[in-house]
Amino acid sequence: MQERHDAPLAPLTTFRLGGPARRLVTATTDAEVVEAVRDADASGTPLLVIGGGSNLVVGDKGFEGTALRIATSGFSLDGTSLELAAGEVWSQAVARTVEAGLAGIECLSGIPGSAGATPIQNVGAYGQEVSSTITEVVAYDRAAGRTVALSNEECGFSYRHSRFKADPDRYVVLRVRFELEDAGGMSAPVKYPETARALGVEAGDRVPLEQARETVLKLRAGKGMVLDAEDHDTWSAGSFFTNPILDDAAFAAFRERVRERLGDDAAPPAYPAGEGRTKTSAAWLIDKAGFTKGYGSGPARISTKHTLALTNRGSATTEDLLALAREVVAGVREAFGVTLVNEPVMVGVGL
Ligand SMILES: Cc1cc2nc3c(=O)[nH]c(=O)nc-3n(C[C@H](O)[C@H](O)[C@H](O)COP(=O)(O)OP(=O)(O)OC[C@H]3O[C@@H](n4cnc5c(N)ncnc54)[C@H](O)[C@@H]3O)c2cc1C
Repeated sequence: MQERHDAPLAPLTTFRLGGPARRLVTATTDAEVVEAVRDADASGTPLLVIGGGSNLVVGDKGFEGTALRIATSGFSLDGTSLELAAGEVWSQAVARTVEAGLAGIECLSGIPGSAGATPIQNVGAYGQEVSSTITEVVAYDRAAGRTVALSNEECGFSYRHSRFKADPDRYVVLRVRFELEDAGGMSAPVKYPETARALGVEAGDRVPLEQARETVLKLRAGKGMVLDAEDHDTWSAGSFFTNPILDDAAFAAFRERVRERLGDDAAPPAYPAGEGRTKTSAAWLIDKAGFTKGYGSGPARISTKHTLALTNRGSATTEDLLALAREVVAGVREAFGVTLVNEPVMVGVGL
């Protein structure tokens, strides 16, 4: 187990932001992860678990406790059953399943970060979410002091949410198990209209797996959603805000605000999100509230490729980023009466 003191966290995050951790431990086996967690808990030291740092906003003051970087490895495929160690790089694992001719996570190509973090916010993109293929999550339960296996149902998955996100100080994910599909080298049915359009097929069709992956990677790159150290549009945490889900009354009030502001013909994006609930688009709200691509004049700006990504143009501090995020939240609320919620996890800071 590697240990450092007063170690900067910024290089461990895709924002490249945040102050130091009092102690930084890197664990390369499940046993080391459990040992580090037990040590921190026994001494009452706050614990921050870090995978790829692609969904983290760390405050400029850093973290007064133990930051535990999960660097375990393990990719095991048995027929259509896949088990990944938490520290496996997610995008590489997806590439390997596509190579193996298995469907189910191909549309999650290019998402940065670790496999162990995917259940935390039920990672999703282009019509797929990990909750559709995860069968079990093996985690160290800090409350019980032992390792447990949680079934898909027990993970409490919903849109960008799970039991792990709801109870952030309880579980440290060690392994994630998936059940994929052997569809003879074809993808899962394409769900997302934008992907279907780019592939030139109808929603519900299957396409060769490699073609689905390449298309998703191309769409993502066009939005600055594939990490590229040279491109400041990718110095982000991907989407900074989740898409708001409104109940019927809130959606009706919102539609009225849209009409008042943008005219009778304006129709906000609306997708069914369960009984009496509608999901709308955070990117649309941000853009229509006047925060267009590239918005901002300081070191933190909206991506030039996607309104939903807030970015560090190279010299930002976390406070710069938060000031921009607060401005966007206030502007959208004033324009449309909808309060945006951040998607990345905040460490020592808030909106
Ligand atoms: C360019 C870009 C594009 C993105 N696109 C998408 C997208 O399309 N869809 C999407 O859903 N997300 C997207 N994201 C967000 C992010 O990549 C995912 O949320 C990813 O799963 C985070 O993984 P990570 O290992 O980097 O987690 P981290 O940022 O290291 O951690 C995130 C949270 O998970 C916790 N955590 C991490 N590992 C563990 C573990 N083993 N056990 C317990 N808790 C843990 C951390 O404590 C923290 O609370 C994008 C990010 C970027 C930068």
